[in-house]
Amino acid sequence: MTPDLVVVGSGFFGLTIAERCARERGLKVLVIDQRSHIGGNAYSEAEPTTGIEVHRYGAHLFHTSVDRVWEYVTRFTTFTDYRHRVYSTVRGEVYPMPINLGTINQFFRAAYTPGQARELVREQAGELAGTDPENLNDKGIQLIGRPLYEAFFKGYTAKQWQTDPKDLPASIISRLPVRYTYDNRYFNDTYEGLPTDGYTAWLERMADHPNIEVRLGTDFFDASQPINKAAVVGQVPVVYTGPIDRYFDYAEGELSWRTLDFEQEVLDVGDFQGTPVMNYADEDVPYTRIHEFRHFHPERQYPDDATVIMREYSRFARRGDEPYYPVNTAADREALLRYRELTKQERGVVFGGRLGTYKYLDMHMAIGSALSTYDNVLPDVLG
Ligand code: UDP
Repeated sequence: MTPDLVVVGSGFFGLTIAERCARERGLKVLVIDQRSHIGGNAYSEAEPTTGIEVHRYGAHLFHTSVDRVWEYVTRFTTFTDYRHRVYSTVRGEVYPMPINLGTINQFFRAAYTPGQARELVREQAGELAGTDPENLNDKGIQLIGRPLYEAFFKGYTAKQWQTDPKDLPASIISRLPVRYTYDNRYFNDTYEGLPTDGYTAWLERMADHPNIEVRLGTDFFDASQPINKAAVVGQVPVVYTGPIDRYFDYAEGELSWRTLDFEQEVLDVGDFQGTPVMNYADEDVPYTRIHEFRHFHPERQYPDDATVIMREYSRFARRGDEPYYPVNTAADREALLRYRELTKQERGVVFGGRLGTYKYLDMHMAIGSALSTYDNVLPDVLG
């Protein structure tokens, strides 16, 4: 087919754009992806020996408070009533995360009321109490006081980012709530759940339209295949969701990314850790967390004598590694501004998604941003 629009990358941003353009505007959309499967990092598949759904690129938990996003995603899938809860192992003891009154009382071996706990944290935040710091270190101390910050965030963040927390944005830690109640739900959002038939079924339904063709194993920068950057840009409108620095051949320098490595094991026990995600806050444990996938779907019939676990390790991405998290140091932010200038000169190309905007977007944010791009930006590009 001769496409009306080329979408580079089949993650949530790209698929949302493709689906809207095909269904609402009747456009022929060609989606290409260099991987052998759709869905970007949201892709999941059944582990062959146990049938347990494994999130290939780490656990993905869907949550949103945006009615429009919820209304949109529920066109393609129903959701289970899964509510995410996380525990963290610190010096041989297990605590509920995010920090809540249960965590605080267990940590201080106390029975504080909400008011007493607030007062304690205020004292322990010292001179940072009541301020609004811009870096992760100061924001963390300001939010929960130094002792809790050092136990739960310092070591984990050192492993996750390998960057001085004074050089990381405060927004990373503000993702997590701090509660002076015993509510230990991880997210505050109105809507939450996991796709009933799995992520891949959801993603495939988004792409299931006669006007959408998905071509896998197709690299936009490979000039030997026909849908490449040089051949397409300027000829057909493009929505590009790959790394923004890669698009410009790193002309303004490489943006720093964190990548993840996963070590998967099938164990012959019915339950390894009793919960979906266990964080490891101590720096001498090399992984940041262990996922045990059966616990994401207690409603499913999974074998009772086998389980799948995945240890997650974090490190700086080198060229060729999968980028996961934008590090966003001051130098990155400067380079990003220069890249944004370059994008303005790329007529007919829209940049989106976590990689295309270098923003730490969650799934619902990528979808929300694609819906508003479809409304506000694409009409100019598509004419
Ligand atoms: N974090 C931490 N300890 C924890 C959980 C989170 O220090 O037990 C910090 C860490 O810096 C992490 C950030 O909070 O990168 C955001 O955590 P979140 O769980 O939102 O990260 P994600 O699930 O996206 O990797």
